[in-house]
Amino acid sequence: MIQSKGYAAQNAETDLAPWNFEHREVGPHDVQLEILYCGVCHSDLHQIKNDWFPGIFPMVPGHEIVGKVIKVGDHVKNFKVNELAGVGCMVDSCQVCENCKADLEQYCLEGSTQTYNGKGRDGVPTYGGYANTIVVREEFVLHISEKLSLAATAPLLCAGITTYSPLRHWKVGKGHKLAVLGLGGLGHMAVKFGVAFGAEVTVLSTSPNKEAAAKALGAHHFVVTSDAEQVKAVTGTFDFILDTVSADHDMNMYLSLLRTNGTHIVVGVPAPYPIHPFSLIGGRKSLAGSGIGGIKETQEMLDFCAENNIVSDIELIDIKDITASYQRMVKGDVRYRFVIDMKTL
Ligand code: NAP
Ligand code: ZN
Repeated sequence: MIQSKGYAAQNAETDLAPWNFEHREVGPHDVQLEILYCGVCHSDLHQIKNDWFPGIFPMVPGHEIVGKVIKVGDHVKNFKVNELAGVGCMVDSCQVCENCKADLEQYCLEGSTQTYNGKGRDGVPTYGGYANTIVVREEFVLHISEKLSLAATAPLLCAGITTYSPLRHWKVGKGHKLAVLGLGGLGHMAVKFGVAFGAEVTVLSTSPNKEAAAKALGAHHFVVTSDAEQVKAVTGTFDFILDTVSADHDMNMYLSLLRTNGTHIVVGVPAPYPIHPFSLIGGRKSLAGSGIGGIKETQEMLDFCAENNIVSDIELIDIKDITASYQRMVKGDVRYRFVIDMKTL
């Protein structure tokens, strides 16, 4: 076994703290990374706090992983030692069901294996990127360009693909009015992609103090959702809303901002919320959801970012400050993604 060290939550009540654990030996089809940076996703906090379902503890979070390949199995064809590589939210899937065959491993009919807070097909718990190393089967490892800042590339592995994939699926672009709901880690990437794809982008935010920053990211308009006049002015105007909100919010109010035939795409995962049927019926609106993206599309997104010089706006942190960083993230006080510098482990 490979001796590994990281930060883990021992249960849903305690803060993360240093923890030593083991990864499997590098198998013939595996790649081992030395983790250099790992992004901090709101999903990490939801999961260590059991917000969605009872977690598997001890839990080492982190699914925005970039680093250097340090070992490859005998049958690995696509990766070499010393190359840069990344790992996102999944580390395995059945590879044979109709969704896996359609490059939609995130919707694997047997369930894809999550990078952490999951169990591998061997039944062993998976441990994520707040750690010095990880072992992953080759098919779930991504190539990372040397052209971009490596630390600022890490969030692309989740925040990037989770916003890129729905915008591509619904072909959001020129001629569309796109509203990005919530300007956090996912939201700021949605703004960058929406602008890059040619849409007219409005940020819908609870934070008036983010307006200048939203415009600097390329957003064309900014609406403070607590201001009734501003909300009234955009009611019935959007073709798409990409909803990245992590906490309770009034879905019926947001659905009223769509124009006829508009689509509200949910990617944020707060607690369940009520939706009135009339909110959808009036104006023939669609309510949709989207989960991360398949491996092929994740590589396509990374390549698109390298070509178009797109990275995340980050604040680099010391791993010992992770709990304070979670507290700041909950308050919306991060521009726009914390990334752990793994040298500090
Ligand atoms: P984040 O950085 O904390 O951003 C969330 C943003 O939501 C905040 O910055 C804030 O933006 C807004 N917000 C917070 N509370 C709100 C409220 N009560 N009402 C309205 N807006 C509120 O989080 P993140 O990392 O981007 O993740 C966002 C959500 O997506 C999380 O629930 C996460 O678990 C989920 N997620 C889903 C997938 C998927 O595959 N579907 C993948 C990754 C993450 P403003 O200050 O602008 O209002
Ligand atoms: Zn995530």
